[in-house]
Amino acid sequence: MTHPAENPESHHHKNFIEIEVEKDFANKESLQGKTIQTRFPPEPNGYLHIGHAKSICLNFGLAKTYGGKCNLRFDDTNPSKESQEYVDSIQRDVRWLGFQWDNLFYASDYFQQLYDWALQLIREGHAYVCDLSAEQMREYRGTLTEPGKNSPYRDRTVDENMDLFFRMKSGEFAEGTRTLRAKIDMGSPNFNLRDPVLYRIMNAHHHRTGNDWCIYPMYDWAHGQSDSIEGITHSICTLEFENHRPLYDWFCKTLRIFHPRQVEFARLNLSYTVMSKRKLLQLVTEKHVEGWDDPRMPTISGYRRRGYTPESIRNFCETIGVARFNGVIDVLVLENAVRDHLNKTASRYMAILDPVKVTLINYPDDQVEELEAVNNPEDPAAGSRKLPFSKTLFIEREDFMENAPSKFFRLKPGGEVRLRYAYIIKCEEVIKDSSGKVIELKCSYDPQTKSGSGPSAERKVKGTIHWVSASTGHCAEVRLYDRLFLSETPEEAPEAKTFLDNINPNSKTVLHAVIEPALAQILPGTRVQFERNGYYCADQIDSKPGAPVFNRIVTLKDTWAKIAAKE
Ligand code: ATP
Ligand code: MG
Repeated sequence: MTHPAENPESHHHKNFIEIEVEKDFANKESLQGKTIQTRFPPEPNGYLHIGHAKSICLNFGLAKTYGGKCNLRFDDTNPSKESQEYVDSIQRDVRWLGFQWDNLFYASDYFQQLYDWALQLIREGHAYVCDLSAEQMREYRGTLTEPGKNSPYRDRTVDENMDLFFRMKSGEFAEGTRTLRAKIDMGSPNFNLRDPVLYRIMNAHHHRTGNDWCIYPMYDWAHGQSDSIEGITHSICTLEFENHRPLYDWFCKTLRIFHPRQVEFARLNLSYTVMSKRKLLQLVTEKHVEGWDDPRMPTISGYRRRGYTPESIRNFCETIGVARFNGVIDVLVLENAVRDHLNKTASRYMAILDPVKVTLINYPDDQVEELEAVNNPEDPAAGSRKLPFSKTLFIEREDFMENAPSKFFRLKPGGEVRLRYAYIIKCEEVIKDSSGKVIELKCSYDPQTKSGSGPSAERKVKGTIHWVSASTGHCAEVRLYDRLFLSETPEEAPEAKTFLDNINPNSKTVLHAVIEPALAQILPGTRVQFERNGYYCADQIDSKPGAPVFNRIVTLKDTWAKIAAKE
């Protein structure tokens, strides 16, 4: 077994789970001759988010590292919140992230086996039908400092339990009137062992089993047994299940079935981000965003639409490692992973988001020059393209300043600047409208200074700006996305407020930009850099042939750090 850590090319450091896995395979009798088997077990009650990506990378990563297998298993035991739409989106997202499961399973496939195992527990005196209501059950459960009380139904005979459980399953009783509970220890300091519920009555239609069942297994009863059925060697889950582990172990031991090892790690939390599926669903249903795939959502489908790459999400998960304690990762780490990957892969283009007209007074009226522009200085294989240059151009409004400080090296009255790939121009006259807004800059150009045309072109000016030719430029809708929440910890809202009060009212701005002609032809889904501005993706849904709509993926540099520094 070779590990990537032994490969000098790799930057991977073994995480604590890998170390545990290696120890288990070296020492455990039950694992001899086996390879690792993991699973990713989403409940299909929402779309996957970046936290799930962490779990996916970990589970599929372990299987890959150690030459084993990883299943995709839908934990579909709560029909009231689950649907086929979620099942489909989850499969698409896992594939898009770059992973392929070895087996596709559903916990609902195991309903009969789970029922049979429940009968085994009853027969062996380890489970009973309880008639306490939910409220009574809470009263009997005890507190952190006081043990619980035994249910008055705890000592029912095996025959009575068998009869009642069968009738529960047959639909004879109303919802909420009875449960099946494991008989463990109402005095245990661990609440999970105080006779946990295994089955509740629910007259719900299930998206796969239809109306076959009216009793549904609880998470704890279904999860570990599903792991056992699939021969999962390591059941990786998040820290809040640590104190469920004794119950997980109790079920496997009491049923005398294959016993996977549960290992817990810290769930991923990101600053400025809400991660709970319940809250993400609320954002969608209350229309604070435009859907699960809104480019501002931390969902995989939102990131995909925004233009994040699967590579950058995987790199991010690798960078942050696997933690044993809960913490918050700065969302900048994710944004930087996206920048790093796009810097290497995205072609550069010119686009003007807030245009001001420039007229070159000494340039021939009808002349158009085809300049040669490099697509990606980081990637010679990306080649070059033709960039038309003419008498009338657009530049960014912010690249001109009338009363500029001496350190301003872009365009100012009487000052010079280089136009990228083209000439040095000088601002001769500023034209304003009646309100005083600059509407045109009359400039002269120096024909001797064409970029790349030899030593005479090497006259130096301090600034270079980008531009688009007015006669050949196209207009395009550009959506500037920013963080959806203003607060670093949006879920911690002050009293009488909710996470919704932390929403950034300016998380989306729509502009109409002038883009160079080559950009108008790019295909939906293509990611590009707008020079000197940021990375953008042609929206997969709203782009039309010849008329892309652009989503800003991420700015070139972090602008939030600057804002924070000013405060
Ligand atoms: P949420 O709390 O967002 O609703 P969940 O845990 O209920 O998430 P599941 O569909 O049950 O969602 O999760 C599937 C798997 O993904 C589980 O193994 C879970 O531990 C893991 N997972 C969920 N959220 C995170 C996270 N933030 N970081 C790491 N792993 C996560
Ligand atoms: Mg869950």
